[in-house]
Amino acid sequence: MKFKRSEELYKEGLVHLVGAVNSPVRAFTSVGGNPLFIKKGHGSKITDVDGNEYIDLVLSYGPMILGHRHRKVRRGVAKALRSGYSFGASTENEIILAKIVCDAFPGMDKVRFVNSGTEAVISGVRLARSFTGKDKIIKFAGCYHGHQDSLLVAAGSGLATLSLPGSKGVPEGAVKNTLIATYNDLESVKVHFEEHDDIAGVIIEPICGNMGVVIPQNKFLVELKEYLKSKGALLIADEVMTGFRSKFGGAQELLGVEADITCLGKVIGGGFPVGAYGARNEIMEEVAPLGGMYQAGTLSGNPIAMAGGISTLTELKRQNPYDQFNDTAATIETILLETAKKYNVDLVVNRFGSMMNPFFTKGKVTNFEEAQTSDIKKFAIFFWAMIKNGVFLPPSQFEAWFLSSAISKRDIKKIAVAVDKAMLAVS
Ligand code: PLP
Repeated sequence: MKFKRSEELYKEGLVHLVGAVNSPVRAFTSVGGNPLFIKKGHGSKITDVDGNEYIDLVLSYGPMILGHRHRKVRRGVAKALRSGYSFGASTENEIILAKIVCDAFPGMDKVRFVNSGTEAVISGVRLARSFTGKDKIIKFAGCYHGHQDSLLVAAGSGLATLSLPGSKGVPEGAVKNTLIATYNDLESVKVHFEEHDDIAGVIIEPICGNMGVVIPQNKFLVELKEYLKSKGALLIADEVMTGFRSKFGGAQELLGVEADITCLGKVIGGGFPVGAYGARNEIMEEVAPLGGMYQAGTLSGNPIAMAGGISTLTELKRQNPYDQFNDTAATIETILLETAKKYNVDLVVNRFGSMMNPFFTKGKVTNFEEAQTSDIKKFAIFFWAMIKNGVFLPPSQFEAWFLSSAISKRDIKKIAVAVDKAMLAVS
C-alpha cells in the first residue's frame, strides 16, 4: 500500500495549516506517521488520495451514520441548495428539524440549533447556570465536551491522545467553577455536593466515547439523575455523540433516563455542521428572545445544514438500524476477542450499540484511569496493520469506532481478515 500523495499533501499542508490538520484528532501523532488525505467516500467506504480503499469505522467521528454520500441526503441537500444558502431569517426547515428532534427526546419541548457540538455544550452549560442561578458544573474525568474553556480539564478525546491534562491558554478563572468526578462513581459526585452549595448541574456523556467507549455500569445514570433531582441540580446529557446513534432517542432512550438539558451534534447534521441544545419549556424560556440567557449565531439553523439533518434523520427513522448495529458490533467484538485469544494478546472490548473499541489491557475499563492502562504502543501497531489491510480506524486509543448502516457482511469478513493480521502484528 502506497501513501505517496498523502505524504506530499501532508508536507504542503504543513505550510499553512497547523500540523496539516484542522482538528488535532486527525493528526496521527499518537500512532506515528502522517495523516492520510481522503478523496471520496461512498457507502461504508472511503478512498484516500493514493487510491487506497478502506472500510470506514471513523465516519467523520460519528455523523455519517448512513454511510457516505447517501442518495437521499444528497437529494435533500441539493434541493435546499437551489433555494439559497443562508438568509439571516427563519426558514421552514428549522421547524421541521426541530419537530423531529423534540419528538425523539421527550425531555425536549424546545430546541435551539447551533453549528457544532462545542457550541451546543457551551450553551447547554450556560442554560443550566442561568436556570439554577448557580455557577459550578461537575464533569467526569475522560469525558470530552468540545473545546470550551471551562470544560477543557481532565478531558478525553484529543487531549487524552496527546496526554494533555488540560489546554494552555485557559485562564485559571475559567475552570474555577469546574469540578471533576469519576465516571461510574456516584460517591465522587456526592463528595462535591457535600462541599459546595452552588452546583448548577452535572454534565455527562451518557455513554462515553471520548476515553474510548466506556459504558455506564448498572443503574449509574438513573441513580445520578435521582440524586441530582434531590439536590435541585440539573443533569446535562451531552449526547453530541450518542444522540440518534445509540437509539433514535439517544442514550436517554436506551438507558431510560430523561436529562434536564440535552446537547446534540454530529448525527443531527448528517455530515453538515449542526449542533443543538434543548430542554423542557420552563428551562428553554431562559433563552433569548424569551429570557435573559443570550446565545446567537449568524449561520445557526442554516438551510443547507437543516436539510442534511432532516434527510438523515428521516432516513434513519425509516431504516431503524439499531438492532442491526447491535448484531454487527457483537460480531466484531467476537472477532476481536477470539483473535486476541488466538495470539495471546490481552484485550478488553467495550461496546454499546454502534459504538465500540478495544483496549489493550486486562480486566475491565469502566473509567478514565482504567482506560489509560491500555498499551498505546500495541494500539499503534494494531492501527497501522488495520490501515494496511483496508480498515480506517481513529488514530487514537481514546476514540470510539462507529458503525454505519451501510456496512455489509462482506465488509465484516474483510474486517476479520484485517484483525487477524493486526493482532498477529501486535503479539
Ligand atoms: N461533546 C461530545 C460528547 C463530543 O464527542 C464532541 C466531539 O467529538 C463534542 C461535544 C464537540 O463537538 P464538535 O466537535 O462538533 O464541536
